[in-house]
Amino acid sequence: MTGAPWSTGVGRLPDGALAVAGVDVRDLAAEHGTPAYVLDEADFRMRARAYRTAFEAAFGAVGAGVDVYYAGKALLTVAVARWAREEGLRVDTASSGELAVALRAEVPGAEIGLHGNNKSDAEILRALDAGVGRIIVDSLVEIERVARLAAERGVVAPVMVRVTTGVHAGGHEYIATAHEDQKFGLSVNAADGAESPAMAALLQVLKHPELRLLGIHSHIGSQILDPDGFEAAARVVLRLRADLAERSGELVDEVDLGGGYGIAYLPGDVALDPERVAKDIAQSVAGVCQELGTSLPRFSIEPGRAIVGPAGLTLYTVGTVKPVTVSADDGADFTRTYVSVDGGMSDNIRPALYGAAYHAEVVGRTSAAETVLARVVGKHCESGDIVVHEVRLPADVRAGDLLAVAATGAYGRSMASNYNMLPRPPVVAVAGGASRVLVRRETEDDLLGLDQG
Ligand SMILES: *Cc1c(COP(=O)(O)O)cnc(C)c1O
Repeated sequence: MTGAPWSTGVGRLPDGALAVAGVDVRDLAAEHGTPAYVLDEADFRMRARAYRTAFEAAFGAVGAGVDVYYAGKALLTVAVARWAREEGLRVDTASSGELAVALRAEVPGAEIGLHGNNKSDAEILRALDAGVGRIIVDSLVEIERVARLAAERGVVAPVMVRVTTGVHAGGHEYIATAHEDQKFGLSVNAADGAESPAMAALLQVLKHPELRLLGIHSHIGSQILDPDGFEAAARVVLRLRADLAERSGELVDEVDLGGGYGIAYLPGDVALDPERVAKDIAQSVAGVCQELGTSLPRFSIEPGRAIVGPAGLTLYTVGTVKPVTVSADDGADFTRTYVSVDGGMSDNIRPALYGAAYHAEVVGRTSAAETVLARVVGKHCESGDIVVHEVRLPADVRAGDLLAVAATGAYGRSMASNYNMLPRPPVVAVAGGASRVLVRRETEDDLLGLDQG
């Protein structure tokens, strides 16, 4: 497993089986069943701390404050929200449900952010009643909606305006476009001679006594492995902040640079290093503020995947193994071994949704067999129900084997479905040689309980 992207608590036992934080995966499977999401608590905490300390150190060195918000949409349970808080992170939510989890975890409202491009009145009211630290507004109509509801409640709503900078990143490169064709944010780019939607929104917020303009928010994408995109977006946001100050006399205090910090999914992948990226961004924003002649704002970032992704693995049991002869483009036939597991696209939609690549190993035993070219597939009625497109597995992989997929902590459980009426797997935390259930497995009764007959 050289270089395989397991959490830091993963190792092989003397007999070759995998253990997470000292717990044998065979024991995890026996106790909790499969499929199961297994979360290495110490790994989550370590990454949360690493991001916070790296950004605090780097931004502190240039004289700026910084807050780290854990993007709850990656995986939010009450325990996970508590861990984030205990490690000094705040929590970002994107719906009333996520907000409810953070509140249940006793995250103070002031340390919660509310996102979303289509927040309902009920969601906004719940956020106001909880005293959230910030509502990130995403459109002109929403500015009016939040102002009306804040007035109704007799409170002043703290808001940030989400802008699109034209910098879009994801993967190894970033691209910059003037007009972004997407639902999020307000563009900093104006049609000829007109005011940019971002500037118009900021000025509109300033007109409302029921709103307090905290600052400007930008999120450029996900699974970003090149810090240049963050720097380019920060430059655009800081320039907008300076322009707004010129227009209105108001130099806003806060700038949020969003999430998207990339992780390793496959052996050999190199994740973004929080210390390096923090230093790069801090030095870059300090330089930009100096050029613009403005003071530094307080910054915030919103990593989700980078905190929880590597901490999780999914444990499956192998069922059917089927060799399939495939014709290659060059006419040569080859064999691909289809290894079916007891979950699939219902517990990990990312391969089907984004073509995401993952790494898998047989983890309940060692094998001296040769490896074969395998494809790990689920049990759903869909040929695109693929968990791992391509991985080498021992040729003797067979029914009953335990198979683990690495780095599934983010956007696995949180995007899970009940397709084919499969109950969603539990989230099991492992720490210090013991496991505990954070979210229990769904049952058929849970599913039938929704059906009104
Ligand atoms: C999804 C999202 C994040 C987290 O993204 P990661 O890739 O998980 O770090 C942060 N902020 C916003 C606004 C998002 O939509």
